[in-house]
Amino acid sequence: MPKTIQKRGNTSTTTVVEGIINNTDNGDSIEQVKRKVVYKLYRWDEIPEWQKDNEHIISGYVRETNSFKGCLHSLFYVHNESGNVYSHLLPGVFFFFTMVLNKYGITIYSTTSIVDYLMIDLFFFGAFCCLILSSLFHCFKSHSLKVATLGNKLDYLGIVILIVTSMISIMYFGFFDNPLFFYFFSSLTFLFGGACATVSLKDHFRSREWRPYRAGLFVAFGLSAILPILAGTFYYGIEETFIRIQLKWIILEGFFYIFGAFLYGVRFPEKYVPGSFDIWGHSHQIFHILVVVAAFCHLRGLLSSYEIVHSRL
Ligand SMILES: [Zn+2]
Repeated sequence: MPKTIQKRGNTSTTTVVEGIINNTDNGDSIEQVKRKVVYKLYRWDEIPEWQKDNEHIISGYVRETNSFKGCLHSLFYVHNESGNVYSHLLPGVFFFFTMVLNKYGITIYSTTSIVDYLMIDLFFFGAFCCLILSSLFHCFKSHSLKVATLGNKLDYLGIVILIVTSMISIMYFGFFDNPLFFYFFSSLTFLFGGACATVSLKDHFRSREWRPYRAGLFVAFGLSAILPILAGTFYYGIEETFIRIQLKWIILEGFFYIFGAFLYGVRFPEKYVPGSFDIWGHSHQIFHILVVVAAFCHLRGLLSSYEIVHSRL
């Protein structure tokens, strides 16, 4: 595992990462190996203006590479985006393989149909898209302003895909015997999802003056998840709704998403001890981890909801 050392010169402090310096098995001297694998990381005041986002993260930056190869190379040493890349890359790969292999993982009932698999896979697909697009963004954001902007758009698109697929999959099982509700709320979800995807991707809506409307639309999208729950409560009663969509897991899921977004918004903890969480433990990493925890809560609720439907049929 590469290690980070502080090299303090007379005029500036430069963080240098030296990787694999003990790998001298092939006959290279330590100095030769060092020369091959020295990756320079930069401080806040050494990076271009467009790369500056969080002033409480002072060091550990990969400076504009203008090279996809250079960005990929950054996967192999530790910098301040490593946690953000891997916290979504690894679970993203997990969700992909569970999507492929879930036929061996879920309880099969005599009433289980291809649509059940498709609905569960839909959620796996959404989680995979969100996590992979996010890790790609964090891996390639040091390329250039153009690539970082495109990556940021795709990162938002991934979030929209995850919300849409999460809601549709759980509503399918929750409203299993009520297709009218399922189609109505699915259409509403698609409508909101389409609107949020448009304001995330179109440059016109990404301008500063559109920011409050954009944020408002995302909040409305999130809150729209309450509508099918209210409809279910009205139609089936509170207790039955709790069982049907495994509401305890969905509430927990919502809590982790909102708490993660809150920490990210207030930039906790790095705001209070700038420079102490540059590589590990800053708010964006915590947010990423809580997104994964929330996705697992959804998965748990979704699978229970599926089992309840079929055990009753
Ligand atoms: Zn992120």
